Amino acid sequence: MEKREQLYEGKAKKVYATDDPALLIVSYKDDATAFNGKKKGSIAGKGVINNQMSNRLMQRLERAGVPTHFVEELSERETLVKKVQIVPLEVIVRNVSAGSFAKRYGVAEGIVFPSPTVEFSYKNDALDDPLICLPHIFALGLATKEEMAAIIDLARRVNAFLRGFWSECGVTLVDFKLEFGRLADGTIVLADEISPDTCRLWDSATGEKLDKDRFRRDLGGVEEAYAEIMRRLLDHDA
Ligand code: C5P
Repeated sequence: MEKREQLYEGKAKKVYATDDPALLIVSYKDDATAFNGKKKGSIAGKGVINNQMSNRLMQRLERAGVPTHFVEELSERETLVKKVQIVPLEVIVRNVSAGSFAKRYGVAEGIVFPSPTVEFSYKNDALDDPLICLPHIFALGLATKEEMAAIIDLARRVNAFLRGFWSECGVTLVDFKLEFGRLADGTIVLADEISPDTCRLWDSATGEKLDKDRFRRDLGGVEEAYAEIMRRLLDHDA
């Protein structure tokens, strides 16, 4: 596999072409941003942790029947993935109130929901990724009804799997964000990453935050939290 030109640089990753038009290389950076890029920083070692954690979780999801873009881990920070056309939605699943949900409805964090919620944001930096409803997704032609049915079903299956997995690690999966893409034949697959950047993960016993909220909220111990959550995953796999 030959690495070719850089196609794109995002907030946390770079994407490179390869000699196979159906495959891309993703390279994870230590750069951290929050609030749509208004807060910037760096979390030492984050790129390595996010790459390895996302790959392990995506391989488990594949085995559980969820199609993903994952092909092969190439190095500490680099992974070969299937090229997809990203559906421009952030698909957010919540099990417990936190973050923008708690703020929007004026409720405390930590309220356990009777059943998980699935919501969508329109991926558009200029508009600050606004919340979007299904009729508006269809009105804008962002995805078809069939695609959204597949996305919602996959998001619920990912949640069921990840909740169970993290619970075995002594961690509560509070909420998370997924992105989906279309393969050349139109199949919807899970893309992007699953990491402490994109999930809220709380220690089940103490409630300690083991995710990017430590960076967003200046709580300190950011690197330590990423290392701890990775240690839990590795201990589980051992
Ligand atoms: O901020 P909010 O409560 O809506 O975030 C819900 C979940 O989605 C959190 O786990 C957060 O880490 C994730 N998220 C993300 N990228 C965004 C927005 C939210 O990974 N741009």
